[in-house]
Amino acid sequence: MKLQQTRECPAAAPETTDEMPFSSDTPGDTGSTLLSFFRERLRCACADLIGGILYYSGIIQLVVWIRRKVLKRGRLLIIVYHRVTRPCRGVADISISPQNFIEHLGYLLRRYRILSIDECLNYVHTRTYPERDSVLITLDDGYEDNYTNAFPELQKWGLPAAIFLTGDHIGKEQMLKEEQIREMAGHNITFGAHTMTHPLLSALDTVDIRREVWNAKTTIEKIINKPVRSFAYPFGSEGHFDRRAVAAVAHSGFNCAFTTIKDDVTVEHSLFELPRKVIADFSMPAFSAKIEGVFDVMYTLRRALHRAHTTVRR
Ligand SMILES: [Zn+2]
Repeated sequence: MKLQQTRECPAAAPETTDEMPFSSDTPGDTGSTLLSFFRERLRCACADLIGGILYYSGIIQLVVWIRRKVLKRGRLLIIVYHRVTRPCRGVADISISPQNFIEHLGYLLRRYRILSIDECLNYVHTRTYPERDSVLITLDDGYEDNYTNAFPELQKWGLPAAIFLTGDHIGKEQMLKEEQIREMAGHNITFGAHTMTHPLLSALDTVDIRREVWNAKTTIEKIINKPVRSFAYPFGSEGHFDRRAVAAVAHSGFNCAFTTIKDDVTVEHSLFELPRKVIADFSMPAFSAKIEGVFDVMYTLRRALHRAHTTVRR
């Protein structure tokens, strides 16, 4: 898990990329070395190759069909991107190329109903599921390329999305500017808070957690001149936030909070610990394998085989 800041983008520290069936068990070091850049590109190339085989052989479509028959309802899914720009050294693990982003939107438009954050929350509130498979698109950290590269594509199709801003980073180099935030807020983009400085919340004392949460909310509200009701935990996996962080968010006037714990949203989920799937720079077939859960199944099988192998060797 990478917790330190990247060199190319000093304003924000990245979240993790997701696991894949052929990736290492440990996420490794920072994305700032040439070696880690090539490792990330190799990881995505492998995903593209395997995703292509799964997609064009019809396996993914079969999985979708079987799941639909078993569940007898639609899925509720939340995905998260970070940067929408050509992956480069230092930020390869949190970037997706604009071309792949467009292809992802094309897949989602064909397969899913794309929800606003309020529509998504309504299902959780009412403990119901959508008829059709449905997805909420989110972007974390507030990079300027969200405005230059993602926003035009979202607008072209009239798609809603939610962007979570880190308060102290607004206006800095490579990050969203206040006027860009205001423009997007008027065009189907919901803004949420992502703390003030993007800390590891579980490592802070309670007073600092509350300050990070509350100050981010008021900072963004001043910019968009409307209430900020949603929050995303920095890094967002288990161990990166704790009960104190959940309580601070719940008591600061937010009505939901998002993690990066990968799962479908179910009626059992708390509004303050909603799962999201982190999306890497995958081609459309690999993206489909990821969000349809095929990579997750492969990853689980790989880990089970590894555990069984370790047990036998003992
Ligand atoms: Zn973040």
